[in-house]
Amino acid sequence: MITLEQREAYRAAYGAAMQARDMAKANAIAKEWGSVELEGRQSTVYNADWVEKRKEILARDGGRCVKCASTERVQVDHIVPVSRGGSEFDNANLQTLCRPCHKEKTRQELIRRHEEYGY
Ligand SMILES: [Zn+2]
Repeated sequence: MITLEQREAYRAAYGAAMQARDMAKANAIAKEWGSVELEGRQSTVYNADWVEKRKEILARDGGRCVKCASTERVQVDHIVPVSRGGSEFDNANLQTLCRPCHKEKTRQELIRRHEEYGY
């Protein structure tokens, strides 16, 4: 079981390790975080919260990709990825994207990460 406070603590520790460019530490924290997260019943609650949040964002954006207005294969995306300290549930950090636009955004993020962190 993981509390919101624990999740914030993991996120802060992970963010600090990333800031320090200590990849070994960041990976170790992510691994531990993942195992703690999956074992708890809290993750079921979290998933239910996400299902609701996803519906809310899709409704807000009219079920359309905010980049190209496509209504096909839309997904809800974290503008600033959670792994980079972005908020999971803040509406301001969430947007509807179609699959091609989402893939392009992910590609750009990987390029940026490679330039910043070298991996
Ligand atoms: Zn699109």
